[in-house]
Amino acid sequence: MRAEIEHRNPAQPEFHQAVHEVLESLAPVLAAREDYAQAAIVERLLEPERQVLFRVPWQDDRGKVHVNRGFRVEFNSALGPYKGGLRFHPSVNLGIVKFLGFEQIFKNALTGLGIGGGKGGSDFDPHGRSDSEVMRFCQSFMTELQRHIGEHTDVPAGDIGVGGREIGYLFGQYRRITNRWEGVLTGKGRSWGGSAIRPEATGYGNVYFAAEMLHRRGEDLQGQTAVVSGSGNVAIYTIEKLKALGANPLTCSDSGGYVVDDKGIDVDLLKQIKEVERGRVSEYATRRGGSARYVAGGSVWDVPADIALPSATQNELGADAATTLIRNGVKAVSEGANMPTTPEAVDLLTAAGVAFGPGKAANAGGVAVSALEMSQNAARDTWTPARVEEELLRIMRDIHHTCYETAERYGAPGDYVAGANIAGFERVADAMLAQGVI
Ligand code: NDP
Repeated sequence: MRAEIEHRNPAQPEFHQAVHEVLESLAPVLAAREDYAQAAIVERLLEPERQVLFRVPWQDDRGKVHVNRGFRVEFNSALGPYKGGLRFHPSVNLGIVKFLGFEQIFKNALTGLGIGGGKGGSDFDPHGRSDSEVMRFCQSFMTELQRHIGEHTDVPAGDIGVGGREIGYLFGQYRRITNRWEGVLTGKGRSWGGSAIRPEATGYGNVYFAAEMLHRRGEDLQGQTAVVSGSGNVAIYTIEKLKALGANPLTCSDSGGYVVDDKGIDVDLLKQIKEVERGRVSEYATRRGGSARYVAGGSVWDVPADIALPSATQNELGADAATTLIRNGVKAVSEGANMPTTPEAVDLLTAAGVAFGPGKAANAGGVAVSALEMSQNAARDTWTPARVEEELLRIMRDIHHTCYETAERYGAPGDYVAGANIAGFERVADAMLAQGVI
């Protein structure tokens, strides 16, 4: 099947990588379930239900016209409306969007909520663009995307390069064109339909997942040192929750380099630089004083710590980094980003007995709270932060339990990759079986 996938989806290495990892885990399930093979469940899962590619023309502040490419891959809606973020980054192409959309199917299934899998974005780079340029881009992007989405059809959220500002501009344009106020996007501002704890959810959820993995080993987060990569939405709230639970996050990074802070990252300063000023992590070291230093380039994984939480982007933690982490005695790696650890690195970590939480389980808190935002919007209701966080904690514990228990059931105790892939797959596959050949 490997060759067939590569032949049908040429030049999409990230998609191949995500699919191979899942198929490897599914071998024992597929061997036991002839009905899945009979109904070609895997073949159907690998083919997105719909893929939309479109032109996004926009004008910069000097009047120059730019053309970007927009994507929305509606992968699987057996469990509910397509759900998954929009990524604005120059590296975005169809293969990246398909890998993210494919992962999203299983992640969303693991939450236990009624959401299918999708993903989208553009090769637009918001870095260095003014607010008005970002607004004009978002308006042009939504002018086409609005034909394909809706509260019962497809509900996008944010991802790399798409935060509260972008969701606001996108939502405004949707409402203007359709004349409908509906929960068509999640990650909205609190005062206009957004859920409490949505900005925090992915990072907080990943820390809860890491804590559950440690509990299984008779440990907790108290006093553990942590390396975190990235300095965006996921990284910031990972760092915040690590501190709240007594751990000591030592690092953050961006594509230019990383910061080590021996006293632990100061979350307020990081938020000020990244969320308010939209600056770079190098400024953190300058403003923090003696305890922090900036390392241009280099690898954040060189910093010794008890746990590692990659929270930037795909394939950011390779075999060399895994070897260094193992040498430095890392106990757990929990993925805040999507597929940040290469397959070779995952093999090394698991062979060394490191607890490894794959993104489709560990970072599912973001989409879970997005689904709670959809429920609140549908009911015209607003839940308190305490209620949402309680739900988030419950969902992350359930996901951990499901992965752990499924891995045991299939003879792979402690293998969260197998547990997540199999449990997510079974839920979607059973729904597809029940719904016939479509
Ligand atoms: P942000 O745009 O808020 O932050 C991304 C961070 O990662 C920035 O620090 C950015 O640095 C860094 N980064 C991005 N691309 C690269 C690259 N190619 N090389 C090095 N650094 C890079 O994104 P999020 O925090 O929202 O997303 C981070 C990861 O988490 C992604 O993998 C995303 O898919 C995943 N995720 C996000 C969820 C969410 O709710 N937001 C939910 C589940 C998963 P720079 O500014 O220099 O580019």
